[in-house]
Amino acid sequence: MNINLQTPIDYLKGVGPNRADLLRSELGIHTYQDLINLFPNRYIDRTKYYKINELQHNNADVQVVGVITSLKDAGEGRGKRLVATFKDDTGIMELVWFRGHKWIRESIKLNQPYVMFGKPNWFNGIFSMPHPDMELQEEHEKNLRSAMQPIYPSTEKLSNKGITNRVVNKIMQQLFLETKGRFEETLSENLISELKLISKSKALFNIHFPENQELLSKAQFRLKFEELFYIQLQLIIKNLIHKSKIKGFNFEHVGNYFNSFFRDHLPFELTNAQKRVLKEIRADLGSNAQMNRLLQGDVGSGKTIVALMSMLIALDNGFQACLMAPTEILSVQHYNGLQEMCNKLKISIKLLTGSTKTLERRNIHKSLENGELHILVGTHALLEDKVKFKNLGLAIIDEQHRFGVAQRSKLWHKNDTPPHILIMTATPIPRTLAMSVYGDLDISIIDELPPGRKHIKTVHRYDKNRLKVFRFIRDEIGKGRQIYIVYPLIKESEKMDYKDLMDGYESIVREFPMPDYQISIVHGQMKAVDKDYEMQRFIKGETQIMVATTVIEVGVNVPNASVMIIESAERFGLSQLHQLRGRVGRGAEQSYCILMTGHKLSEDSKTRLQTMVRTDDGFEIAEVDLRLRGPGDLMGTQQSGVLNLKIADVIKDKDILQHARHYAKTILKNDPSLSLAEHKVLRYTYGQLTKYKNIWNYIS
Ligand code: ADP
Ligand code: MG
Repeated sequence: MNINLQTPIDYLKGVGPNRADLLRSELGIHTYQDLINLFPNRYIDRTKYYKINELQHNNADVQVVGVITSLKDAGEGRGKRLVATFKDDTGIMELVWFRGHKWIRESIKLNQPYVMFGKPNWFNGIFSMPHPDMELQEEHEKNLRSAMQPIYPSTEKLSNKGITNRVVNKIMQQLFLETKGRFEETLSENLISELKLISKSKALFNIHFPENQELLSKAQFRLKFEELFYIQLQLIIKNLIHKSKIKGFNFEHVGNYFNSFFRDHLPFELTNAQKRVLKEIRADLGSNAQMNRLLQGDVGSGKTIVALMSMLIALDNGFQACLMAPTEILSVQHYNGLQEMCNKLKISIKLLTGSTKTLERRNIHKSLENGELHILVGTHALLEDKVKFKNLGLAIIDEQHRFGVAQRSKLWHKNDTPPHILIMTATPIPRTLAMSVYGDLDISIIDELPPGRKHIKTVHRYDKNRLKVFRFIRDEIGKGRQIYIVYPLIKESEKMDYKDLMDGYESIVREFPMPDYQISIVHGQMKAVDKDYEMQRFIKGETQIMVATTVIEVGVNVPNASVMIIESAERFGLSQLHQLRGRVGRGAEQSYCILMTGHKLSEDSKTRLQTMVRTDDGFEIAEVDLRLRGPGDLMGTQQSGVLNLKIADVIKDKDILQHARHYAKTILKNDPSLSLAEHKVLRYTYGQLTKYKNIWNYIS
């Protein structure tokens, strides 16, 4: 039969229908191509053999040579296992099997030298190796194998069904045999010579059967580069197509609203970063193409004023604008802040949320449709079909990570021509990563805080020092300040969290009794009106302490609050801690953040706490966060394929990523359709990739 890389995996010798099914369901391997692209996770030095008395508690996989002297059954029911005594000239260990006893009993040869390969565990005073990879020493020596043994990704089901690493290795060998190890080149000659890359065939061979460390490194570099390069190519092309195909409203001029605001009502001088970002936005709005821009800026960097001024440009050109926020509290706060400035400019602005009364709602719908209403602020309620604009020109979304891409696309359909979209987020991500993740977005960054902002003093305190912390709170309240005390809220254990919160609340009430102290409490199980009432009391300064779950996380602005106490801080993620801390430090006073924890802390928790104490630079914090968590939780990652990388790692391989982006950009700049002869191979490969994988997640 004629073999090509799209041949179903069933045809490979050694892969029967059962194995093929497993490979498909467990690893997504359907074709020869998929199997070649199953890259090892790591390599193990198989020139090294351990003696039993050299084994350590923390050994990863090791090889040991010895003989099996006896076999016995042990345990009952689910703990039933087959145990072999295995010894060499230095000691004794055990081999353990929980499954496949019959087959093992039949195939094992007692008192013959074996090479065992696996991870040793220290258990009941003896090392034991569960489900070792085993091979008679005689066989082992016959098999020519490289020093670096690849370890492939696997699943529990695969190993249970006997598809061990060795089996994968064998079918990989078979694949190279059948294809003669010859694979089409997928990068252009220029790239190969400029970057001194090894050929595709050589790279694939060495990734699976490394001849030596140097060739392995070269193979890894070449394949990582290639993977990142094609993703960048896709993202950039997508962006180019977007710009040329998706027409936007052209906001040609800056008019009265913008100018009079700038001249007469701007409450402070804009920072340079704010000015630069506004310029970028203005350029987009006047460019004929639809703007799709992400505005990143740390908590407190002043995104709101940029949002307002962008909306004024829309208004100046006869269009309406809207601002959508993820929670009711946030929308109200945005509304209140904007309303003040809009009144001065005689701009009509309204608030629409889940709790807007029917009558008001009808009024809003009407004035929105006839164009009397200029700006609408609100929650998801804005997305409802009943909400129709006369001519929505600009939609601003605050804190995008709470909204999905699907919701963004809903806003698009409010008109025939899509409105310009500005997404604001306070969750900064490193720039290189941002560019590789959000292919269809342009990015603006406010990387400067307004002047006079004070550093927030951050400390870590253990629970047993709580009394000192209470004393500190009392002192601060004595000076007229307000305090936040925040408890974690994690869905899986909502009940427990609720109990923690209530216990905490009671002890605070005991410690800070009425009438000297007034305390607010806000949590997720309260009704919106009650939440709002308590929040308002705190905002107005009627209460000194706000005990809350993370509902206060985003955006509330109480400049007089100067202390943020985070309970069980070890349970929060870094970016969440950073967001919470950003609630204080908004006024003129020195502010504090106190991270309370118990004594037992994991390594990751320690790193998070140390990072918070060390810095309040959102970008630095984001880098650490990414290192700890990987890019999985970032918004938009699913759309870009970054999560499905087969060999590269956007964080560890940041430099290669930058290279790849640079080359992709340069090539597309000179040859946007990849039609030059020298780019033929790129065009072809690109076509193949987009044909077999669905990377084109247009929002259409
Ligand atoms: P965020 O980016 O977190 O949304 P805001 O827009 O709420 O930040 O701004 C935080 C605070 O800083 C607000 O009180 C705002 O009035 C103030 N602010 C914004 N820009 C400036 C500036 N250029 N100079 C002084 N204060 C500013
Ligand atoms: Mg904000």
